[in-house]
Amino acid sequence: MPSFHGIDILRSDMNKLPFWKNTPLNEMTGEQWESLCDGCARCCLIKLEDEDSEEICTTSLACRYLDMQKQLCTCYEERTTLVPTCVKLTPDNIQDQFHFMPQTCAYRLIYEGQELPEWHPLLTGNRDLMQESGISIRHIAVSETVIETEEDMLDYIIDCDED
Ligand code: SF4
Ligand code: SF4
Repeated sequence: MPSFHGIDILRSDMNKLPFWKNTPLNEMTGEQWESLCDGCARCCLIKLEDEDSEEICTTSLACRYLDMQKQLCTCYEERTTLVPTCVKLTPDNIQDQFHFMPQTCAYRLIYEGQELPEWHPLLTGNRDLMQESGISIRHIAVSETVIETEEDMLDYIIDCDED
C-alpha cells in the first residue's frame, strides 16, 4: 500500500461527459434534443402497411416536403399539420415510433442506452461521415411527387418489417 502524504479524492466527473450521456432524454434542452438528429431523413421515407398481415414495408419514396438535396424538412414547424402521418418525436412517444426509425437513429439508440455511432455529427462536427457511411437516404430516395397513383408506391418498396 502506498504511504499517502496527501490525499486527492478522485471521483468520476459526470459534468465532463457529453450531454447525451448524462442528460435523460426528457431533461434535454430543445437544442440538445434537436442535435441528436443525424439528418439521415430515413424517417421521412414513406412506409406502407399491408391491411391484412399488418406487415410494414419501407419505400424509397421520400415525403414531398423533404429537400432532396439537403435532406432537410422544408416545413419543419408545420410538419404535423401538413403531413398528418408525420409525428413530432418526444421522449414520451419514442417507443411507439420505432417502426418509423432506423436502428441507427440517435433517439432510438440513446433511448436504448447505446452509444452514438462514430459517424454521428455530434462526434464528427458535421454530416460528412454520416453521408459517406451510407446512412442518409441521399442515394436511394426519390420524392413521392414522382408517383401518379397509390398503387405505384408498391414499385418502390425496398424493405419490409425492418425494426
Ligand atoms: S431517423 Fe432519426 S436521426 Fe434520422 S432524420 Fe429521422 S429523427 Fe433524425
Ligand atoms: S413533413 Fe418534414 S419531417 Fe415530416 S416526413 Fe415530411 S419531410 Fe419529413
